[in-house]
Amino acid sequence: MTNILISGASIAGTTTAYWLRRHGCTVTVVERAPAIREGGYKVDIRGAALTVIERMGLLDAVRARSTDMRIATHYDARGRRVATLDADLFGGRTGGDLEIMRGDLNELLYDLTRDDVEYVFDDSITAIAEDGTVTFERSEPRKFDLVVGADGAHSNTRRIAFGEESGFARDLGYYISICSVPNTLGLDREEAVHAAPGRTANVYSTRQDSGAKALFMWSSPPLDYDHRDVTGQKELLTRAMDGSGWQVPALLEAVRDANDFYFDSVTQIHMDRWSKGRVVLVGDAGYCASPASGQGTSLALVGAYVLAGELAAGGGTDGYERELRAFVEANQALGPANVKGMVIGSRAALWFQTRMIRLLPHLPGRDRMIERVAGPIARAANAITLKQYRE
Ligand SMILES: Cc1cc2nc3c(=O)[nH]c(=O)nc-3n(C[C@H](O)[C@H](O)[C@H](O)COP(=O)(O)OP(=O)(O)OC[C@H]3O[C@@H](n4cnc5c(N)ncnc54)[C@H](O)[C@@H]3O)c2cc1C
Repeated sequence: MTNILISGASIAGTTTAYWLRRHGCTVTVVERAPAIREGGYKVDIRGAALTVIERMGLLDAVRARSTDMRIATHYDARGRRVATLDADLFGGRTGGDLEIMRGDLNELLYDLTRDDVEYVFDDSITAIAEDGTVTFERSEPRKFDLVVGADGAHSNTRRIAFGEESGFARDLGYYISICSVPNTLGLDREEAVHAAPGRTANVYSTRQDSGAKALFMWSSPPLDYDHRDVTGQKELLTRAMDGSGWQVPALLEAVRDANDFYFDSVTQIHMDRWSKGRVVLVGDAGYCASPASGQGTSLALVGAYVLAGELAAGGGTDGYERELRAFVEANQALGPANVKGMVIGSRAALWFQTRMIRLLPHLPGRDRMIERVAGPIARAANAITLKQYRE
């Protein structure tokens, strides 16, 4: 396996490219977007994924670009402060865990690989033949030993090689929307949260951002909508948040002008196998854990490291599946559990959660409570011992 094509130049794609290069492969990356995608939202790097970042020599650079969030404050419908938590506790981070904007991480990974990996932007795979011949929307057909699908939860490579998304998607019963908004609340490395039964609004501003990001999550049965109709999606969000208090009406007003609007169901991808013939999937394409897990980025980093390492060490795609499966399962299990804490189902549950948040800093068993919040994520994030693959 020396000549490898990767579809997708985000976290999983660039990291796989880096490690395959280090193991001596020739790597081409095809990306549908016209350039490396900037911006996005903040993501966490935890546990074993930190080891991957360290082995790439990027730990200091990631630290230097970390969001540096300080606090998270909960507000009630009338805008009264309910409680303020330390940002790491709010985000379930322990030890050396880091938080960074997705675009910043992507840029670091791209810069690390751009000199010795061929990047083809503004293109996409249309077919993969059994002999490894790949056809593209724009480029001429080319032959590869292996095609790595790193093109996200709605993976094009997965559809071509394994079939329609509906066969692998597990809808968790929620929607999520996020976009840039003006920082009218004057937030400084902090987030402001308002939760109501069945829906949550959150706005934050990081160290790097002079503006802010508004994030909304709500429980909902599957919605029928056009994936290209952004105005229609903004309408669905507005309807879901209708009647909300706090700053939500003003945020929805600001959302109207946003040109980086993201809207999707909170869905996981579950597959019995991530490889078939000359195709293998990595990151969200093969095992999206959903934004609710908080572990999608770490899964992409660890998955990329293990895939490249096993291919180089002769374990092949079987070795990749064997090494990674339990880690993926442990992290995917976080999604359905976490989402219930992010969007509270009932008024009674909300009342209880508010009490707990208020009391948390003063409770005698505070450490036990913190362990209950952050412990499961920390255990899942460390649920793999990374091999040291020979280069
Ligand atoms: C709103 C939101 C909040 C999140 N919060 C967190 C968090 O707090 N912590 C965390 O760890 N994770 C979080 N995640 C998840 C995290 O962003 C993903 O799990 C992670 O980016 C996975 O990386 P990936 O490279 O597998 O896929 P993606 O980042 O989705 O990248 C896929 C790439 O493939 C490209 N592509 C798509 N189609 C094609 C095609 N046909 N041909 C070529 N290229 C294509 C895309 O343009 C993109 O560059 C969040 C995700 C969302 C959406």
